[in-house]
Amino acid sequence: MLPAAFRSLAFGALLGLAGHVATAGEAAPIRVAPSRPAAPQLWPLTRLHGVDYIDVNEIARRFDLKAAWTKPQQELTLSDARGARFVFSASQYDFYFDGLRVFLGARALNEKKTLFLTKLDVIKIVAPLLRPGDHADPAPVRPPKTIVLDPGHGGGDPGKENLALGLNEKTFTLDVALRLKKLLEPEGWRVLMTRKDDKVFSGDKKLDLQMRDEFANREKADLFLSIHFNAVERNPQQVTGVETYILPAQYMLSTLEEKKDDMTDVAYPGNRFDYANLLLGAELHRAVLGSLKTPDRGFKRGRLAVLRLLDCPGALVECAFLSSDAEARRIATPEFRQQIAAGLSDGLRNYAAAIEKLHPAPAP
Ligand SMILES: [Zn+2]
Repeated sequence: MLPAAFRSLAFGALLGLAGHVATAGEAAPIRVAPSRPAAPQLWPLTRLHGVDYIDVNEIARRFDLKAAWTKPQQELTLSDARGARFVFSASQYDFYFDGLRVFLGARALNEKKTLFLTKLDVIKIVAPLLRPGDHADPAPVRPPKTIVLDPGHGGGDPGKENLALGLNEKTFTLDVALRLKKLLEPEGWRVLMTRKDDKVFSGDKKLDLQMRDEFANREKADLFLSIHFNAVERNPQQVTGVETYILPAQYMLSTLEEKKDDMTDVAYPGNRFDYANLLLGAELHRAVLGSLKTPDRGFKRGRLAVLRLLDCPGALVECAFLSSDAEARRIATPEFRQQIAAGLSDGLRNYAAAIEKLHPAPAP
């Protein structure tokens, strides 16, 4: 709220703009209010099929990138002097940002001889990936010091399994979390774990996931990282690689969802950190891929129980696929699990450095 005097000045200036009408005994002209920072520039919107879209060329214009079709009417690339920054494809959910595969909430639309993205995807994913500094979260985001590591599953819930090889998820998530803890503590992180052994908070899975968030909130964690391994039923031997998940913004569909459900329009506690979640997920995804050199399955979004109720930024990494025998055999080696932990710690360090730069801690 502006002080009252300033408000009346601004109001006067507004009247002046609307047309100057001279009246008898008029006071001296109102002096223009001191200049203020320019209002944030609004994105020009195009209404298509009842939804607000933004032309990809507008993204190029705002960020001083050059837009060019790399496949006519199919693939549009935005580049700077060093090379491609964004690659968008018609009718696709995913795009590439600095080589990283990122999923949108809605497909890129090919109309009017250009590509359009929904306004929500531009303001919640595309723009803040390139310029995180322009976007602040409603809740303050602190440079992280306390992190809660959440080894997925445990107790009576083995998680995903490779029955042929006798391997299960819960064993490896705990092992990776313990390795990561060892890497983080010497760097000054306070590391807490939702489980340190095969015991979980509750045998009721739904309640257990909620209690993992409550634990992080009670401990006033600055960051939450859930560690998982994945499996697929279709083409199990072919599907390998890394997937990273964060909570979708309110109103945004989860990855590959085609329509809304009763959670889509809800603002969850974790949504107070949409921009920090994005930064965290991107840094983790990039670093784990860099460490493992496995296929990029994408930086995705899901309203996962373990991310919804957090009072801090959080992400979930599906580090590799147990359903592929070849990848499962790698997971079973301590060297591979150490590489995963190293990748995760690199990602966390990069996130912390980015937050430090965006929100420097006040001088003591
Ligand atoms: Zn899992």
